[in-house]
This record gives sequence, structure tokens and C-alpha cells, in this order.
Amino acid sequence: MQALRREINDLAQEIREQREVEDGESIQAAMDIISDVADDMTRLQEEQAYQQQLIETLKTEKDRLDAGVRDDPLCTCSDPYCALKRGTLPAPVRMADQIDDGITDYKTDHMGDPRVLLDARTQWLEKGHRVRERLQTAVLVIRGELDHDPQVSEADVSAEPAYDDDGDEKPAASS
Ligand SMILES: [Zn+2]
Repeated sequence: MQALRREINDLAQEIREQREVEDGESIQAAMDIISDVADDMTRLQEEQAYQQQLIETLKTEKDRLDAGVRDDPLCTCSDPYCALKRGTLPAPVRMADQIDDGITDYKTDHMGDPRVLLDARTQWLEKGHRVRERLQTAVLVIRGELDHDPQVSEADVSAEPAYDDDGDEKPAASS
């Protein structure tokens, strides 16, 4: 996740710099591409966001379980005091230098399947991947390496311009 956050930072930085020196269609197109992930993008760049997101998700899922909306157990261990079952982030994960390492260790050490924790991590990673993908597309558009409309970007590379450079206005329609 650290690496992903760094990539997102770098991409966002590049877009910011380009915005300062350039203006016009390609910047506008790039901004359109990232507009609906802008909030997530900002969030993903924050140092503490990952941990906060995990905490929020664990709490939300605990509420959903209590309300009968969620069927899947939060954790499959037999410990009634399991942090996950109480909707909180386990201390070893919270205290780990890298949250992802903490989660990996926890998964190994814990006497059960910490499902809600793994789901929360997956959610965050998917959000990160989605934002990174958009930013990458936006950067390509700014650099002019991609058509403004990402929908039609695939069919570009070897397409020869279909100009008819016959400047003759009167087609020699001899029959
Ligand atoms: Zn547990």
C-alpha cells in the first residue's frame, strides 16, 4: 500500500505541475477523467488514511452485523474478546510499522480467519488501484499520448491518416 500511495502521489504531482504550465483541451480532458475520483485521490495521499479507513470499515461492518445486515462473521476465531468482533483494529496491526505487514502477520498468528480485516484491506486496495488507473490515463492524455476520449484510445497507434492528398478539386470522372 505504501508503494501504491507513492505512485498516486507522483501521478497527482505530475498532473498538478502540468496544470501550471499548460492549459487547454488536454488538461480539461484529464481533469474530467479524474473528477469523480478526486475525493478518493486526496484521501489516498494522506499518511493516516489507510488506518482510518480500516477503523471505519471495521466499525461499519460490526454495526451491519449487529443490525442483521451482514451474515458473514467478522472473524472466525473462538475468542469472545477478539478485537475484530468488537469492531476495532487489533493492536498488533495498529502498532505495526507498515499496516500491511501487520495485517499479514495477524492473519498468520490469529486463531481464526480475520475476514472483516481482509475485506477492509481489499476495499482500500481496490480504491487505490482505481484511482491510480485514472491518474495514469489522465497523465497520458496530458502528454498527448492518448486520445482525449479513453473509450477510443485503443485503436490508435498504426492508423495511417486517411487523407486523400490529391489536391485536385475536379475529379477526373472520365467514363
Ligand atoms: Zn478473531
